[in-house]
Amino acid sequence: MRPIAGGLCAICGERLFSPYAVSDTAGEPRCGVCRRLAPSFARALAYGSYEGGLRELIHLLKYGGVRPAANVLGRMLAEVIAALEPDFSAAPVTVVPVPLFRARQRQRGFNQAELIARVALKCHAAEGRLHLAERVLERKRETQSQTGLTSHQRRENMRGAFAVAQPDAVRGQQVLVVDDVYTTGATVSECARILLRAGASKVWVATVARTLKVSAQHVEIEPHAVDSKFEEGVIAQPVSMAKAVGS
Ligand SMILES: [Zn+2]
Repeated sequence: MRPIAGGLCAICGERLFSPYAVSDTAGEPRCGVCRRLAPSFARALAYGSYEGGLRELIHLLKYGGVRPAANVLGRMLAEVIAALEPDFSAAPVTVVPVPLFRARQRQRGFNQAELIARVALKCHAAEGRLHLAERVLERKRETQSQTGLTSHQRRENMRGAFAVAQPDAVRGQQVLVVDDVYTTGATVSECARILLRAGASKVWVATVARTLKVSAQHVEIEPHAVDSKFEEGVIAQPVSMAKAVGS
């Protein structure tokens, strides 16, 4: 279980396989998805790729009911929050776990996002700036699987799935939405959208894991921007560097 390495989209954290991913005006790399339609959140960041040991650990918590797994996952989330921290202003940050539908939470006995967030905030106790607000958002209904849906359909699928139950808690506040996994981003985008509509000043997203696509198709290459030194691509770089050192 290692943090995601390499170039990432500055907005959604998707892995970028090319150093020539087109940058926005601020010079930050963006994936094709975020270039086409900027998400409602300011930035989403994850600790690791949703696969292997990390995926197993999340499944152990969610489906196996092994609550101590939240301690490990929470410490990972604390690292993500620390990485996002320079983006926050000096004002307090309201931490909002993505809620489960009532029936689902009753069945599971807990909301994994909330457990993980609690552990993460304990690691941040000295800061005292982040506070958990677990009842700000409410899930109004269960959402069907997002698999096989277009991004437009995913957004439609999410409409009305959440509501802001405590608008006073977010009005004018910086909000950090926390979840275990970022899959398509449709869930956290919808949360961010309604939080902003309720008056949140800015919304960030922190998750433990993220589904990373083979995102070559999302990376748009500008031929003019290609530096001939790096034409062999990312993978070839260490080799050519080793050659340079050896020569
Ligand atoms: Zn992106």
